[in-house]
Amino acid sequence: MPHLDLPFDPTCCLIDGIWNKPFTQGTLELINPSNGQVLCHIARGSPADIDAAVRSSQAAFDGKWGHTSAVDRGRILSKLSSLVLENIEFLANLEALDVGKPLKQARADAVALARYMEFYGGAADKVHGETIPYQEGYTVYTLREAHGVTGHIVPWNYPMQIIGRSVGAALAMGNACVLKPAEEACLTALAFANFAIEAGLPKGALNIVPGLGPEAGAALCGHPGIQHMSFTGSVATGRQVQAAAAQNVIPVTLELGGKSPQLIFEDADVDAALPFLVKAGIQNAGQTCSASSRILVHKSRYKEVTNRMAELYNALVVRPAKEDGDIGPLISARQKAIVEGFLEKGSDLRLCAKGSLHSGAPKGGCYVLPHLFADVSADHALAQEEIFGPVQVIIPFETEAEAITIANGTDYGLVASIWARDGARQMRLAKKLRSGQVFLNNYGAGGGVELPFGGRGLSGHGREKGFEALYGFSSLKTIASYHG
Ligand code: NAD
Repeated sequence: MPHLDLPFDPTCCLIDGIWNKPFTQGTLELINPSNGQVLCHIARGSPADIDAAVRSSQAAFDGKWGHTSAVDRGRILSKLSSLVLENIEFLANLEALDVGKPLKQARADAVALARYMEFYGGAADKVHGETIPYQEGYTVYTLREAHGVTGHIVPWNYPMQIIGRSVGAALAMGNACVLKPAEEACLTALAFANFAIEAGLPKGALNIVPGLGPEAGAALCGHPGIQHMSFTGSVATGRQVQAAAAQNVIPVTLELGGKSPQLIFEDADVDAALPFLVKAGIQNAGQTCSASSRILVHKSRYKEVTNRMAELYNALVVRPAKEDGDIGPLISARQKAIVEGFLEKGSDLRLCAKGSLHSGAPKGGCYVLPHLFADVSADHALAQEEIFGPVQVIIPFETEAEAITIANGTDYGLVASIWARDGARQMRLAKKLRSGQVFLNNYGAGGGVELPFGGRGLSGHGREKGFEALYGFSSLKTIASYHG
C-alpha cells in the first residue's frame, strides 16, 4: 500500500468539527482503479455515526451556523473557493488516484469545485423574496428559508463537482449538511471537509460520514432529522432514496444519469461537432451522467460522420490516470464487468472502431477499451440502457420527426444537443426534445456552473446548479400582514 500524505485520517468521519473513528471502528479498502491495488483504508460509517452527524448538524442549524448572516455564509464559501484553488494540484492528484481519471480531467474538476464555491458564495446574499399585490389592507411578501439539515449522497464519478453543486448550494442557503460520499472514491470529499474547517465553517455545518450505501447511505435517507435529500447515482438506488424520503415526507432531488443524444442534421457543421461527439462519450471513460452515448445522424451525413468518428476512436489510447491520456480506467472491477456485459450484448452490432490499451497499463487495472458501434437500431439495449462506460452508438435517421422520436425514445431525459445551421430548425426541435438541457451547436457549454441542470423521466427530478439549486435548497414562506 503506498503512503498517502493526507492532512486528515481517512479512516475517520468528520462529525461536529472533530475527526473520529466510526463507532464500530469499521474500515473499508479503497482501491486504485489504475492498478487494482489498495490505495488506503477509509471509514466504514455506521447508522450510529449518521445519527451523531444529523444531531450535530441540527445543533449547528439551531446555533452558530443558523445565525450566520447570508453575507457571512457567502464569505466563508468564497474563502473555501480560494483554499480549493490554492490546492488544485493536491486535489487533482488525489482524485486521479482515487477515481482513475486522467490528471487534466481531475484538475478541471477541482477548478469546477472552486468555481461552485465562488458562484454560491456570491449568490448567498442575493436570494430575494417577492412582495405580492393583494387585497386592500394587506402587505404580503415571501421569504426563502433554509430547510434545516440536508442529506447529500454523492457517487464516485465526479466527487468534487457533485459536492460543489450540491453542498455548495445547500450551505449558501444556510442549511447544515450531512454528506455521505461513495465508498469507491471519497478522498477529495474528506479533503474538502478539511478545507471547510480552515475556511471557518462552524462545526456541524458540514458533517461527513463515508461508508457503504446500504449502511450509512440508507441510514441517512431514512433519518427523521433530515429535511431534504439530494442524491446522484443509479436509478435503482434513487428509487430507494425517494421511497425513504416519502416515509419522512421530505423533498428530494434525484440526478440519475441518462442516455443523452446528439442530433446531426444535413446542414450541421461536422468539423465543429466532431470533437464534441467523441469527447462527450468518452470523458471520464464514459462514466458521466450527461455522457452522450447516442449519436443520431441524418442519412446524408451518415458515412462522413461515422468514418470521421471511427478515425478519432482508433487513435484513443487508454492509460493509467497519472499518464494523463484521453481515457483512464473505470472506477472498479464491478463497473468493468457491467460495461463488458453491455459489450457482450452488442456482439451482434457492427463495431466500427475501438481504441487501444497503453502497453504500460498495469494488469490489475479496470481498463475497458472505448467502443464505437454503427448502424444501431434505436430499440437495441445499447441504444436504450445507460452503460456508464466508453461506448457510443451511431443511429441513422431520415426526417426531423424520426430524429425526435428516436431522441425521445428512451426512459431518460437529461441532456440533448442539436447540430444544425438552420435557426428555425434549432428553435422548433429544442422545444420538442424531452430533456432537462438542450444545447444548440455545442454539447455541455463547458460545464456551466450557472446553468440549471437536471432530468425528466428516469433521469430524475429537481434542478441543481445556478440559482435553481438555491430555490431547491430552500422553503418558501408567505407572510401576509393585515394592517387595515
Ligand atoms: P449507486 O447509485 O448504488 O451509488 C451511488 C451512491 O449511492 C453511493 O454513494 C452509494 O454508497 C449510495 N448508495 C448505494 N446504495 C444505497 C442505499 N440503499 N441507500 C442510500 N444510498 C445508497 O451506484 P453504483 O452502484 O455506484 O453504480 C451503478 C450504476 O449507477 C452505474 O453503472 C451507473 O449506471 C449508475 N451511476 C450513475 C451516476 C450518475 O452520475 N447519475 C453515478 C454513479 C453511478
